[in-house]
This record gives sequence, C-alpha cells and structure tokens, in this order.
Amino acid sequence: MKQRIKKYLPKFILKQYYSNINKRRYSGNAVECPICHSQFKIFKSYGVVERENAECLKCGSLERHRLLWKYLNEKLNFFEGNKPIKVLHFAPERIFFNEFIKSNNINYIPCDLYPEYFNYNEQVQIEKVDITSIPYEDNSFDFILCNHVLEHIPNDKLAMTELFRVMKPGGFGILQVPLDPNLINTYEDFTIITPEAKEVAFGQHDHVRVYGLDYKQRLENVGFKVCVDDFAQTLTKESCFKYGLIESEMIYKCSKEI
Ligand SMILES: [Zn+2]
Repeated sequence: MKQRIKKYLPKFILKQYYSNINKRRYSGNAVECPICHSQFKIFKSYGVVERENAECLKCGSLERHRLLWKYLNEKLNFFEGNKPIKVLHFAPERIFFNEFIKSNNINYIPCDLYPEYFNYNEQVQIEKVDITSIPYEDNSFDFILCNHVLEHIPNDKLAMTELFRVMKPGGFGILQVPLDPNLINTYEDFTIITPEAKEVAFGQHDHVRVYGLDYKQRLENVGFKVCVDDFAQTLTKESCFKYGLIESEMIYKCSKEI
C-alpha cells in the first residue's frame, strides 16, 4: 500500500500526507525540546538500531544535542552574562549554529574540513579548518565545541594537541565522541581501510576507531583537565523522558588550566 501511494502521488501531496500522519502520531505535550521548545507526545525514533524518543520533529535535535544544550544553559549558565566569548565550533550542527549566531557577546567561528557541505547562513561563513593543523594562534578560544569528530581523524592525538593549543588558559571545550563503556581500551586498527570493513569494525563507514573508557586519559595526555560529567544522571527519570535524554550519557568537559 505504502509503495503504491509513493508511486502515484506527486511529492507535495505525499509530504502533506506524511505530515498529517505525523501530526496525529506525535501531537501532544509529554515531551519538550529544550532547544526549539516544541512539544510532542513523544520524540521520533532514530538510529540504525532504533532508539525511541530520540529525534525532535521540529529542529532535528537528538538526545546528545538536547543534553548538551541543557548542560550549557542550566549547569554552566553559558549564555548568561555579557563578557565577550570567542567560540570555535567544529562540524557545526545547525541547531547550535542557529543559537550561537544569535548571541551578541559570542564571537563565533564555525569550521569544518569540508565547509562546502554546510549551507546554513551566508552572513556567517564556515571556515575551512583541518583539525590537525588549526590555523589560529595559541590561546585564542574561550570555548571549543567538537562533537563526534575525533572518531573520524586518524591522528586524533595531533587533533587533541591542536585543540589544547588554541584554547585559552581558563577556557574549556566539550569534546564528545561515540564511546563504548564496555571497552577499557579504545579499539583502532589502521589496517582496516575499506568503508565496508570500517562499518563492520567501527560501526560507521568513515570512523577509524571505537573509543573506550581510556578516552579521558587520551585527552589528559595532551594536557587537558577532564571532567567526565554525569549531568544526565543528576536529572530525574521524568526529566530524562520529558527532554528525551539518555541517562547514561557522559559529558567530556575539557579545560585548560591557568
Ligand atoms: Zn527541537
């Protein structure tokens, strides 16, 4: 039936059809996205292995984005105060990009090795930056956001060293990676080259490792002071459901001491 509908209906009618289904399925106020403030009966399921209550239907945020947003706002009061802050953001997620460019006191530099893949807002340029050779001076940034990037970088030690170098003393970064808490040591094998083999070994065709619990030590090895923050676990189960958060997700807050 679904296939037949897809085949014969024009695209815009199909869009309306699925939008009406979504309205019926998701309308409600049991969950709320802390980023775009939309409310639903439940967040959409998401992932190769589907996770329930995961994706915001309005802004597309996932559990990790919403957790980070609550952490920055509620634990770190990041957007309060009017002290100028210089921010470097790798592989800039659109939802965060949109919020950062709104803030008057944030000097925001979004960047990626392939800026052409991002087409968000012509007024704010995405800079071309190789994370293993960052083209900025030492001690430049108050805050660095780098989510789910390091697992793509063969020489992650060099990338971490560069992130540490450009961070201001007293500054900090959030450097999230997919991490298997059952692995004591990070699994990497540079003889695995093809995308198919990487997908089998590391879970995604362009990942080069699976981080384990030694991720903290790897960050400390380049000089960071690392706080593995269990912020999600300090929230109630009801809050975790309401905001669609994964209770066991840890936040890697990496500081450069003065
Ligand atoms: Zn949202």
